[in-house]
Amino acid sequence: MIEHIQPYINYLYIVASVLFVLGLKKLGRAESARNGNFVSSIGMLIAIIATCLLVGMEFKWIIVGMIAGSAIGAIAAYRVKMTSMPEMVGLLNGFGGLASMLVAWAEFHKWVTMGWDQYYLTLGAGAPNSPLFTAIAMIFTAIVGGVTFSGSLVAFLKLAELMPGKPIQFAGQQIVNALILVALVAGAVIFCRDPSAPIAYQAFIGIMIVSLVLGVTSVIPIGGADMPVVISLLNSYSGIAAAAAGFIILNNVLIVAGSLVGASGIILTKIMCKAMNRSLANVLFSGFGSASGKKKAADGVQGEAKPISAEDAFLLLEAARSVIIVPGYGMAVAQAQHSVRELGELLTANGCDVRYAIHPVAGRMPGHMNVLLAEANVPYEQLAEPQDVNPVMETVDVAMVIGANDVVNPAAREDESSPIYGMPIINVDQAKTVIVLKRSMASGFAGIENPLFFKDNTRMLFGDAKASVSALVAEFKNI
Ligand code: NDP
Repeated sequence: MIEHIQPYINYLYIVASVLFVLGLKKLGRAESARNGNFVSSIGMLIAIIATCLLVGMEFKWIIVGMIAGSAIGAIAAYRVKMTSMPEMVGLLNGFGGLASMLVAWAEFHKWVTMGWDQYYLTLGAGAPNSPLFTAIAMIFTAIVGGVTFSGSLVAFLKLAELMPGKPIQFAGQQIVNALILVALVAGAVIFCRDPSAPIAYQAFIGIMIVSLVLGVTSVIPIGGADMPVVISLLNSYSGIAAAAAGFIILNNVLIVAGSLVGASGIILTKIMCKAMNRSLANVLFSGFGSASGKKKAADGVQGEAKPISAEDAFLLLEAARSVIIVPGYGMAVAQAQHSVRELGELLTANGCDVRYAIHPVAGRMPGHMNVLLAEANVPYEQLAEPQDVNPVMETVDVAMVIGANDVVNPAAREDESSPIYGMPIINVDQAKTVIVLKRSMASGFAGIENPLFFKDNTRMLFGDAKASVSALVAEFKNI
């Protein structure tokens, strides 16, 4: 029976690939994103079933792996808090890299045990009879997979605050990195020259270990505001590793799925770079950790913050004809999104034009604010990007900043010595009045002071964001 299905497996792979692409396209818009996830999942299900129909699969172990993996994944996804989602994404990227590295190792082990001629037959019809091609694919997969795994683990530990988030630098770091690269190239050459020689096995094990070290040394010097770029870059690496693993076992859908993840991760990296004012080349080749070396400007900002009560904030909002709400990480911590939506509705009912301005790096993961506001059913047409609201900011009566800090820090525009100088921000300071909701004068993720809090037109509404917004809602309901 299974033999009859064999010729059609590639057709199933094409269907799966088309569903991946359609799913990705739908992910580009908030309103179709859930549906996009579903479409891609169906594609993945088809790809898994089709792969299981390949002759010679060990169903017993596949089923054990799928049950164990699905159970762990489902429990972890169910339990994870929305604010811890970036850590989880980081960890999942890492497991993708580890899986690819293990595929490379297992396949190499098979090659060594069987000899090339026998191993070549297991690759199926159409496989190039080229040990060099397969050897390069194996070594590439092992390196990228290893870097992705350990790099993602470090990103996870940093984001989960299980290790210091600050850049870790030591004397001679560049020399160590250069030596690691030399060792990797040397190991790869030794391996590819004759993969069946005993020294090739040692080279392969050595390359896996050194790649794991490279992942750690690449990510530890990165800190603070560069993390979003690292997360999306590692996401891309995990896709590249998977695609390379697809070239080892010559599985078309793995090559397609891996390439899509690799490409979309790079596109997201580019978007994040732009949002954080870092060039992609700088991140890829030399910029790791460089932002950390800059002086913490804006420290010691002069002036006095002006606290207000919820009643005073209500009076400002009640009189406003246009309000721009800028959510940030603090809204996620406070889980204030539902109260924020309620406040938005009350403002609209009061005849006010309400918009939500979302910065691409607000929160702790790409799309963090979009996810929270969608969960609270904020109408999509009220969502705006910084480039939509900045040109009209001077005409806005009240800009309400809810738990955001770095993404509204005018030092990015005004202070050349600031670590975030050049990062596009939402120019709330140009609105007629700014109300900032936060608990204290503490800094945000980048660890720098925010001159916005001391501007003449800024008022500080101190307290947990949910409590403050609920107090405003209560005031509106008492009208
Ligand atoms: P920030 O981290 O700059 O600031 C968040 C603010 O929220 C803090 O100043 C904090 O002040 C306040 N806050 C925390 N908890 C509460 C609460 N319960 N109620 C009210 N306020 C609260 O957030 P932004 O969103 O402005 O910027 C995101 C930052 O994170 C950027 O630097 C970005 O580069 C970085 N980053 C972004 C990622 C992404 O992909 N989006 C991933 C990783 C990092 P206080 O303690 O006084 O309340």
